[in-house]
Amino acid sequence: MFRVGIGHDTHRLVEGRPLVLGGVRVESNRGGEGHSDADALTHAVADAILGALAEGDLGVHFPDNDPKWKDANSLDLLARVVWLASERGYHVVNADANVMLEQPKLRDHIAAMRANLATTLQVEVSNVSVKAKTGEGLDAVGRGEAVSAQAIVLLEENQA
Ligand SMILES: [Zn+2]
Repeated sequence: MFRVGIGHDTHRLVEGRPLVLGGVRVESNRGGEGHSDADALTHAVADAILGALAEGDLGVHFPDNDPKWKDANSLDLLARVVWLASERGYHVVNADANVMLEQPKLRDHIAAMRANLATTLQVEVSNVSVKAKTGEGLDAVGRGEAVSAQAIVLLEENQA
């Protein structure tokens, strides 16, 4: 038994906030606005798992009005979602994600993002793909106003 899920997330970029993607602190003068660390990539992956489980979205499980999640490390939130999947009898097979950011270029950070996500998803790095895109100067991403991510995750039922 397999289940597939899709996730998407966008955060507004503002000055004075760290830019965190896939648990990697990326050098930038602007970062994601949000209650947690605003890690759009990790949020998209977590939402994809919740989607595969038909368990709603991150906002349901980690309400942004709950002080418990203020400045939360999103890899910790993702670990809780992986735990929820295991409670339902599922493990992650693989994940594929796109990150949309105009600047800086993310190429040098991709390996670290994949490693962080793989560790948290409890899979080999070869089962986690992260691809970096820009907005080609168009839309909110292209104007440098936002960072977006989309992800798809495959879950497989554990053997009894
Ligand atoms: Zn988010």
